[in-house]
Amino acid sequence: MIIDVSQQLKQPIGSTRRYSINETSNSPDGEEFSIYGEVSLLRTDRGILMTGILNTRIKAVCSRCLGDFDQPLTLKLEEEFLPVVGPSIGTSLPWSGEDGAFVIDENQEIDLGEVVRQCTLLALPMKPLCRGDCAGLCPSCGRNLNLGPCSCPGAVDPRFAELAKLVLGEERTA
Ligand SMILES: [Zn+2]
Ligand SMILES: [Zn+2]
Repeated sequence: MIIDVSQQLKQPIGSTRRYSINETSNSPDGEEFSIYGEVSLLRTDRGILMTGILNTRIKAVCSRCLGDFDQPLTLKLEEEFLPVVGPSIGTSLPWSGEDGAFVIDENQEIDLGEVVRQCTLLALPMKPLCRGDCAGLCPSCGRNLNLGPCSCPGAVDPRFAELAKLVLGEERTA
């Protein structure tokens, strides 16, 4: 995900360009990783401000049934890239080394890979669910209840466990 911004750095401040992104690549652990969407690049007085929304899917583990599934993610990107070298060749700008800033490298290219990686981490849900109504695992035998009920006596669907407690509690006090 490398974009050449050399032309845009010669444009006046405020000029924008749009890029469609549609890439499939393989992550280091061999999983196929695809990402698509559109970003827009705005020439600022300091560099390039990149904004956009990208869609991707990553492998996740369901927090209820522990099954693997593809978690769709929407990444909202907004990052400024600052040049390590000035737009006219050979002019070195003092590099302030701002924390968290991304760089436009000597070839006047920006790499969205690291931005996407960081955004992906932020977008990950704390408790991923393979589906909204995942039935989870039986607390007694560990069976994946999405595959059907187990034969444990008195097994209660965890989705209704809280409800059952309430109902039983009411019966006792009645
Ligand atoms: Zn699940
Ligand atoms: Zn069971």
